[in-house]
Formats: sequence, C-alpha cells, structure tokens
Amino acid sequence: MSGDLLPLRVDGRLDQIRSAIATAGADALVVTNLTNVRWCTGFTGSAGVLLVTSTDAALITDSRYATQAPAQIADGGAAVEVRISADTVAEGRAFLDTAHGPGIAVALEADHVTWADHQRWEGALDAELVATHGLITELRSVKTEAELARMARAAAITDDALVDAIPLLVAGTTEREVALALEDGMRARGATGPAYETIVAGGPNAALPHARPSDRPFAPGDLVVIDAGSLVDGYRSDMTRTFVIGDADETARTIHDLVTRAQAAGVEAVRAGVVVGDIDRACRDLITAEGYGPEFAHGTGHGVGLDIHELPSVRGTNTDSLQPGQVITVEPGIYLPGVGGVRVEDMVVVTDDGCRPLTRSPKISLS
Ligand code: ZN
Ligand code: ZN
Repeated sequence: MSGDLLPLRVDGRLDQIRSAIATAGADALVVTNLTNVRWCTGFTGSAGVLLVTSTDAALITDSRYATQAPAQIADGGAAVEVRISADTVAEGRAFLDTAHGPGIAVALEADHVTWADHQRWEGALDAELVATHGLITELRSVKTEAELARMARAAAITDDALVDAIPLLVAGTTEREVALALEDGMRARGATGPAYETIVAGGPNAALPHARPSDRPFAPGDLVVIDAGSLVDGYRSDMTRTFVIGDADETARTIHDLVTRAQAAGVEAVRAGVVVGDIDRACRDLITAEGYGPEFAHGTGHGVGLDIHELPSVRGTNTDSLQPGQVITVEPGIYLPGVGGVRVEDMVVVTDDGCRPLTRSPKISLS
C-alpha cells in the first residue's frame, strides 16, 4: 500500500553518522536502538546491531533475517555488510578487529544500552568505550521528502477516518466505540494500524492528558478529546481535536476557545531558526495570561517520525533552533480535574519561512 510513495532511500545517512562519530571523539559506533538501526539501514527486523566505523559498516543479526536483512539493505541503498551470527558481541568484536584493530574508541548509545549490554561490550572489546547521547536521534529529526510523504499519508488517513467517526459523537455512545471506529477506519484506508494507543476521552476523562478509552457513555455537554494518528510504512502521524456532545457550557467554550487560539499562536511561531522554547512560550503565555497556566501542565509538543515521540522536545527549556525538515507537534491543553479538558494538536513540517501542516482536519469551534 506504500508502493505509490517515493522509495525510502537511506544512502547518505552513514556519512552523516560518521561525522557525528568523529565529533564525539570516537572511531566507531555500536547502534543498538532498533529504530536507529532502521533509520540507518532500512532493516526492520526485531533483532540486530549496527556497527559503523569511519570506512565500514556491518549489520549483525540472526538467521531469521538471513533473507530479509540483505534485501532491505539493498532497497535502502546503504553500504552495509550483513553478518549472521547468534553471538552479536563476539561477531562485533571480530568485525572491529579485522577492520580497525585494537585500542580504538567505540561509542555506545548511552540512552539505550542496558547496564548488562555495556558490561558485555566492555568485556569483549579491546577498546575505550565512549558514551554518546542522541547522536542518531538528532539526525533523525530532519526528514527527507520520502519520509514526509509517509507522514502526510498517515495524517491524511487519520483525517478521513475522523470524518467517519464524528457521527458517533452523541450522548450514549462510548469512548471505546469511537476509538475502535477510528482505528478500523485507519486500517481500512491502508494504515498498518494506529500510530499509538488512540485517545478518546469524554467528560471528566478529558481532564487526563493520557486517558485510555473506557466504556463510559458520553453525556450532553461533555468535552471529548480525540488524539489519534496512523502508522504508514513505519512513519507516524499525531493529531488532537476536542469536540463537545450537544451544547457546550460557558467554561467549555472559554477553555476551548483559549486553547484553540494558543495552538494557532504556537503554529504561527514555527519557522526554521526560531528557538524551540519560543514555540512553547507562544502557546503558554496566552494560556497563562488568562489564568490557566497551572492547568497546562505538559510540554507544548514533540518531534514525530519513526517514533511517536522524537526530538526535538518542544518545551520552554529547549534552546536549540528549529531546522527545516523537522516535524513537530504543537499541542497545548487545559485540564480541569473532575470537569473536563481541551487539547488541540497539529503536526507540522518546519520550513524556511514558516511551517506546513500535515494534519488537516478542520478546527472545531464551540462559540
Ligand atoms: Zn497526540
Ligand atoms: Zn503529540
């Protein structure tokens, strides 16, 4: 179903990684995070380690992937040798010894390796181990056109599935029924599945930013937060709209209007070169000025891609600048415990002069 999308090439990524390895003061990198392995090589298996040196790269995986791994690597176009082995660490040592000899500095993904993994690599390699943080996840934050095409497709599928689910937003139907309808709609339109556990949260449940769909029937006046996205060829979309069952009361109208304005202000602030924390402030300042600052208790957004939460983290403390091709969400919310809540979220691509929304469902107006 992704056959009509641009082919997903990964060639060129190893060169980006090699400069990052050199900057980190290492001679080689052991990639153990499977999502990073996929981004570097195109390999989607459930087991494998990628070793990258200044001149060579090897994917070590087990015999289940003897056919799949070389095929996916050929499709992606990266120069990676496939080695099949039941003992990844021993095979990794053999590869590094042959290619580079002893005494080199080998970087590990410190945010991913377990203590046990670290001990095993330390015991096996005659090397200085170097901890690296976010070396590949930072590179992953900037998307290619082929990646954007998948994310746009995932977003469009969700937009369409939402249109079909809206008639269910009446008193008496349950959160779970709406969530199921949405997820069925995504699959029927070609998504692998939802990008994450779909949130449909009505009434008091809407006050929980990470509510799970329950069997609670909607009641008149409920705010209903729907946070949904699809998965297409490994890439994800993320969007939230907040609806009302019947007529909204004054509190619901007030916070819905405020969050909608804050979200628009955040999206308006997105542009390459802008400090990421300024996006958070653009949303938060409006909400705080109206006295709801404490009720907006989460960050404004996050990067999206192969993972639903990636870099950059869109929060006030982030002093990095936005780069063209990054995909971020802008999703302020106000949550009133026991009463309800509102969140509005779009996923946008950063461009030189602003941003392009990938999620296109119309905004809801309660006033
Ligand atoms: Zn979301
Ligand atoms: Zn999100």
